[in-house]
Amino acid sequence: MSYYEFIFEVVPEAAETLTQLLSDRGCLGVYEREHRLFSYFPDSMGIERIRKMVAESSLAIMTSGLQSDLSYSYSYLSERDWNETWKKKYQPIDVGETLTIIPPWETAPDGRTAIIIDPGMAFGTGHHETTRFCLASIERLCRQASHGRFCDIGTGTGILAIAARKLGFAEAAGVDIDPLAVDAARRNVRLNELDNVIIYEGSIEKTTGHFDLVAANLLSETLKALAHEIEARMKPHSLALLSGILTGQEDEVIEVFSALGTAVEEKLSDGRWISLVIRR
Ligand code: SAM
Repeated sequence: MSYYEFIFEVVPEAAETLTQLLSDRGCLGVYEREHRLFSYFPDSMGIERIRKMVAESSLAIMTSGLQSDLSYSYSYLSERDWNETWKKKYQPIDVGETLTIIPPWETAPDGRTAIIIDPGMAFGTGHHETTRFCLASIERLCRQASHGRFCDIGTGTGILAIAARKLGFAEAAGVDIDPLAVDAARRNVRLNELDNVIIYEGSIEKTTGHFDLVAANLLSETLKALAHEIEARMKPHSLALLSGILTGQEDEVIEVFSALGTAVEEKLSDGRWISLVIRR
C-alpha cells in the first residue's frame, strides 16, 4: 500500500484536536515534532477525498479559534518510504505496570506482556494519552473486577481488545466504523495469536449481550450519541472507560451518562484530555 503524508504547521494548542479530527476521518498515524504535525493517509482513499477531509478538519480548527490560519503541504509516499518513516518513528512503549506495545519487528523485554501492533493502519499505537489511560485502567481493573467479557467501541488497531484478552478477559470484542481500522485490528489479533477476540465492522449495535468492561476512546460528541447504547451493554454494577474527552467538554458527557443512572468513579486529566471511569 502507498500513502499520502500531510504536514501541518500547527500551534501546540491545536495539535491534539487536529490529531483527533484526522484520526476520525481515516488518518492512519500522526506524530508531532517542532510545531509540525505529520499525518498519513492510505493512497486507496483517493487524494480528492483525503484533500476534502483535510480541508474540513482545517476549517474545524480555524473556526474553533484554536488556530486562525492552518497551512499544510502534502506528498506521496511509496510503501517503502512509509515503512521506513514508521520504523524510525514507532518505537516500543511501556504502558502501565506490565504492558509493552511493540511493532512486529521488535521483541518485548523479559517479564513484560507484549502487545504487537502493526502501526501502519489505524489509530491506537499506545503513543496517545487517551489510549494509554485505557490500557493502564484495563490492567488495573483486571486485578479487581471479573474478567468475563470486554468490549471496545471504536477499536482502531484493536489495541485495547488485544490487551484485555492478554490481561485475562475470557473474550473481547472490538467494533469500528472504519473498514481500514477493522482490517488493521483483525491483522493485529492474528499477529498476537489470540482466540476469542472478535472485531466487527460497524458500531456498538454489532455487539451482543452484556459486558464486564466497556471502553470507548471517542470524541465527546460520539460518546454522548452512543451513551444510551453503551449503558445498555454494561452489566449491572460494571464499569466503562470513557476517554478522548477534551478538557472543558467533560461536564456534558458526565451529564448524559449520569442521566442514564451511571456514576463517575474516577476522573483523570492530563491538562488536555479527560478520561472517566463510570459505574452502572
Ligand atoms: N480504541 C483505540 C485506542 O484507544 O487507541 C482507537 C481509538 S480512536 C481515537 C477512535 C476510533 O473510533 C477510530 O478508529 C474511529 O474510526 C472509531 N469510531 C469513530 N466513531 C465511531 C462509532 N460511532 N462507532 C464505532 N467506531 C467509531
